[in-house]
Amino acid sequence: MSPAAATAPLTLALSKGRIFEETLPLLEAAGVHVTESPESSRKLILPTSDPGLRLIIVRASDVPTYVQYGAADFGIAGKDVLFEHAAQHPGGLYQPIDLNIAKCRLCVAVRQGFDYQAAVSQGSRLRVATKYVQAAREHFARKGVYVDLIKLYGSMELAPLVGLADAIVDLVSTGGTLKANNLVEVEEIVDISSRLIVNQASLKTRAADLQPLLDAFERASADK
Ligand code: ATP
Ligand code: MG
Repeated sequence: MSPAAATAPLTLALSKGRIFEETLPLLEAAGVHVTESPESSRKLILPTSDPGLRLIIVRASDVPTYVQYGAADFGIAGKDVLFEHAAQHPGGLYQPIDLNIAKCRLCVAVRQGFDYQAAVSQGSRLRVATKYVQAAREHFARKGVYVDLIKLYGSMELAPLVGLADAIVDLVSTGGTLKANNLVEVEEIVDISSRLIVNQASLKTRAADLQPLLDAFERASADK
């Protein structure tokens, strides 16, 4: 085999939107430029200025799957996504670095005027709508609160307004969306940021290629 064919480029899995945008400065810090945006180009495989590194653009919740199966050598995913993924696919992902990007918090919110603390202390059974079923189940179990969980895939804020649920478990950063929908945050569950995740086999077989990037990401994210 010729040297050029001996190694495929490393593949980094990202979701478009805030994770892509907040990853660009980390790549820059590693000397890697990305000239195309997934928003305008619609390409799902993006080259970089480094022929040894390409990006693939997937749904945020699919990033761990691509990395775990080795279709990407590494990826960037929120702790929310990693927590839900781990419940279904334990082990298999190495998570070396907290990148301190896409920061928000997972919290419980209710309609303004709904007395959450009273409902909890009376032992009422709560209906909770969320995309984050595992994290929600664990949170309420820890508190000893009985809940019926309703799985949603988006727009959680709507659920308490139309009587689908008493409460939601959702990600919040500024609280603007909650406020716009007359919801209030009543409990914080956990702080969220995104982590670098690495395929276990790539970590061994591609260590020499991966290490400089991991080091640069680590240095750049420590400044945040
Ligand atoms: P999809 O659009 O595929 O359903 P998503 O809506 O979770 O996925 P994004 O909104 O791009 O995708 O969120 C990606 C990650 O960014 C989330 O997994 C979370 O870790 C983080 N995140 C989500 N909302 C916020 C926010 N308001 N502020 C900061 N970070 C956030
Ligand atoms: Mg979103």
